[in-house]
Amino acid sequence: MSKSLVVAIDGPSGSGKSSTSRGVAQRLSLDYLDTGAMYRAMTWALLERGVDLLDADAIARAAEDVRLTSGTDPEAPTIHVDATDVAEPIRSEDVTGSVSLVAAVPRVRELLVDLQRAVIGASEGIVVEGRDIGSTVAPDAQVKIYLVADPAARAARRAAETGAADTAATELALARRDEIDSTRAASPLSKPEGAVVVDSTYMTLEEVITAIAGIVADAR
Ligand code: C5P
Repeated sequence: MSKSLVVAIDGPSGSGKSSTSRGVAQRLSLDYLDTGAMYRAMTWALLERGVDLLDADAIARAAEDVRLTSGTDPEAPTIHVDATDVAEPIRSEDVTGSVSLVAAVPRVRELLVDLQRAVIGASEGIVVEGRDIGSTVAPDAQVKIYLVADPAARAARRAAETGAADTAATELALARRDEIDSTRAASPLSKPEGAVVVDSTYMTLEEVITAIAGIVADAR
């Protein structure tokens, strides 16, 4: 594991992790890795290949042949499957509805955690967002943040992002994903040991970024 700065930002869906993590990386001139995008890209690739996502063995087998590449510039993060730019299709409803099934398969997690550690090891300083960063991917991270927000606030933000009119349906979908992500056997979502909890419910994005940048400055 690299001795350079690692800022681990974990939390449930819609807590503002992506905007916050990118913002912190930009503010502090660090790299940025969105591990959720990697699970989404894996899911996109398996859907493209017609893999039955209810068959964990089939997922584990097919995952071995998927080549993912993540670009870590916070101004313009990228995600590719082979040579295909999948930044847009990984946000589709199909992928969002299936990603937690794929992410629960232990072999998928092994493959992606190895990739994530390679990216972290090659960086001089990086903000990494996900569900298991402070607990599993980078337990030695100098800064660990657990970002939370009330379910209604999370649903309203996510609905605004996706243009969904029905925030109640969005809240249900988020709750379903959280339930799968928090109860799976392989590195479930939970607050990592030593993480600082930041509740973004009543904070603006700028306030959250400033608070976390301050925590990073204190730790450096
Ligand atoms: O962060 P995002 O909502 O894009 O993540 C999509 C899904 O990827 C999550 O719901 C979760 O199932 C999975 N994930 C994970 N571990 C991570 C990051 C994401 O299991 N470190």
